[in-house]
Amino acid sequence: MPPLHVSFEFFPPKTPEMNDRLWRSVEKLAPLAPDFVSVTYGAGGSTRERTHQTVSRIVGETDLEVAAHLTCVAATRAEVDAVLRDYWAAGVKHIVALRGDPPGGIGEPYAPHPGGYANAAELTAGAREIAPFEISVGCYPEKHPDSPSVADDIDMLKRKVDAGATRAISQFFYDNEVFLRYRDRVRGAGIDIPIVPGVMPVTSFKGLTRMAGLCGATIPERLVRLFQSLDDDPGTRQLVAATVAAEQCLELAENGVEHFHFYTLNRDDLAYALCHMLGVRPKS
Ligand code: FAD
Repeated sequence: MPPLHVSFEFFPPKTPEMNDRLWRSVEKLAPLAPDFVSVTYGAGGSTRERTHQTVSRIVGETDLEVAAHLTCVAATRAEVDAVLRDYWAAGVKHIVALRGDPPGGIGEPYAPHPGGYANAAELTAGAREIAPFEISVGCYPEKHPDSPSVADDIDMLKRKVDAGATRAISQFFYDNEVFLRYRDRVRGAGIDIPIVPGVMPVTSFKGLTRMAGLCGATIPERLVRLFQSLDDDPGTRQLVAATVAAEQCLELAENGVEHFHFYTLNRDDLAYALCHMLGVRPKS
């Protein structure tokens, strides 16, 4: 197996306790030398300040490359451009450019802000005009719920790449075949940027099922059988979750995947264990 690359996604913490947990996780995962760590942007830009603070602290206190998520929902171009300029000035050279979900919640119809960027492709182009950011974007192996078909969805990805995106990070998925077929179709469409699988180890199965329903991600029957009785048994669930995610990652690695993006939910334990099983060890 060639040396594998990893990246970790965090969210901006709300409370001092959550902040402590995030920093413990950053400190534990940093020696694994991820390609980058990313920090999410709350729905509708609701964590603008906290995302900025978290990103700035990681830039200031670690050697990690940080990718700041940024959405264009419910904001004018000028507001989004100001955030981009602030990031560049603060030493943040990598963004994850996203449209964002509708302010009414996932599943509601999306209407772009009249004076804003309409989608992630426009945001990518706008960011490129401001500074030579590295730009990652989202992609959807099971298609985005707003997209009429996988082909339309891949067209949208192509527009993001044409606008300057250099990496796509996928929505989480649990059926590797779906991801691998999607990757083939993306390559068939002439898109050659890295398509990095987003790996979401199972924490609360109830919560995951709800979120997967909203995002259009399928939970295979096999997983339902494995996890359905474990929500009140966190110890066993954790062991099963590690095994399931390790199987998923190892199979993807056998199929040529060389970079994994872990949705950590600000916890280091499963992400660290998975890296270990993939042969990613601390670079002291
Ligand atoms: P886009 O790529 O702009 O569009 C998504 C889909 O909408 C397209 O595939 C297409 O079907 C349709 N569409 C949009 N515009 C058009 C058009 N002009 N013509 C035709 N079809 C169109 N959300 C947050 O709020 N904060 C985050 O930090 C965050 N991080 C994420 C990280 C990753 C890796 C991923 C995959 C998603 C993340 N999201 C986040 C969720 C994301 O904001 C939603 O999935 C959102 O609904 C779509 O964003 P996008 O950038 O993929 O949109």
